[in-house]
Amino acid sequence: MIETTIAGSLPKPAWLAEPEKLWAPWRLEGAALTEGQQDAALTWLKIQDEAGIDIQSDGEQFRRHFVHGFLEGVEGIDWTRMTTMGIRDNRYEAQVPTVTGPVTRPKPVHADSARSLRRHATRKLKFTLPGPMTICDTIADAHYGSRPAMAMAFAELLNAEARELQALGVDVIQFDEPAFNAFMADVPTWGVDCLHRAIDGLTCKTAVHICYGYGIQANLDWKRSLGDVWRQYEAFFPALNASRIDQVSLECADSHVPLSVMAALRDKEVLVGAINVATTEVETPEKVAATLRAALEYVDPERLVACTNCGMAPLPRPVAEAKLRALGAGAALLRRELAGRCPGLPTRPGAGPTGGRPHIPPLPAAPLPLEPPAMAP
Ligand code: ZN
Repeated sequence: MIETTIAGSLPKPAWLAEPEKLWAPWRLEGAALTEGQQDAALTWLKIQDEAGIDIQSDGEQFRRHFVHGFLEGVEGIDWTRMTTMGIRDNRYEAQVPTVTGPVTRPKPVHADSARSLRRHATRKLKFTLPGPMTICDTIADAHYGSRPAMAMAFAELLNAEARELQALGVDVIQFDEPAFNAFMADVPTWGVDCLHRAIDGLTCKTAVHICYGYGIQANLDWKRSLGDVWRQYEAFFPALNASRIDQVSLECADSHVPLSVMAALRDKEVLVGAINVATTEVETPEKVAATLRAALEYVDPERLVACTNCGMAPLPRPVAEAKLRALGAGAALLRRELAGRCPGLPTRPGAGPTGGRPHIPPLPAAPLPLEPPAMAP
């Protein structure tokens, strides 16, 4: 009950890449880079262990960027033909490579990384991949002529990759789809179809992460333009609830997302973002517990997973470590509280009796703070 996990990236050590920067170039190369990435991932597994994070990941230590890390293993992309493109419905501009022919995946992209992680991880292991729609919003197209067609082509490659990751012992495969929040109308029409293609044949847990982005200035400016109540999720959560995806990861901490949107995900496990990644201020365990407790009004405790709002790559490393500890401690606090209300309930995730929804007495309302997200550094 109330397992813990993270949405995505973690800061890279300063000896591996320049800290507090997205797309930072590697500071090592060749065999030294591979060894450095493995060492960085190992460090974060250990820190997640100590923080009480149950479903762990490498925090993207093996890739420079959550989308392009996978694309670097795909052929049909011209990396010398860089195109300036408006990203996430023109929220910001980026220089992106261009698809110039049919995309293929000549060999596994992340298998070596997953093998290394599985050898060392002592708990459940999650691996993240970019979602098909988000890939198409982060790369220019000079071949397919339509986003749904290009997204489906990438979904096939993602599926082959995901099947291999599952065979290597990965417990949860998550597809990152921040583009869902920018192209809401496309999610029910073709976004979910592409996700289904990507998870075809998988028996491990599958997740989709949708957020309001990293705590970078362009996202903070965009959030300020969205008004007091953010209703983007409402447009497509019914389609996700009807989908075959097991888990949905969403932003809740210091957010203007009305918690009632979670009512639409009644058949899903919900990864509730209880850590704000857009501020260096570290949450107290009590604040984390309050965010999670408020979500319990709409999500049964067995379906609730404590998570971060998004990735923490741009944050200073000590801040990210402290936020992981706050997440673990906050979830533990709530587990103890629930166990106190229902003494038969397990206090550790995965422990105790399974099956049958335990009766949880109603909890006192604990409204979320509604102040705007703090500025990123
Ligand atoms: Zn995110």
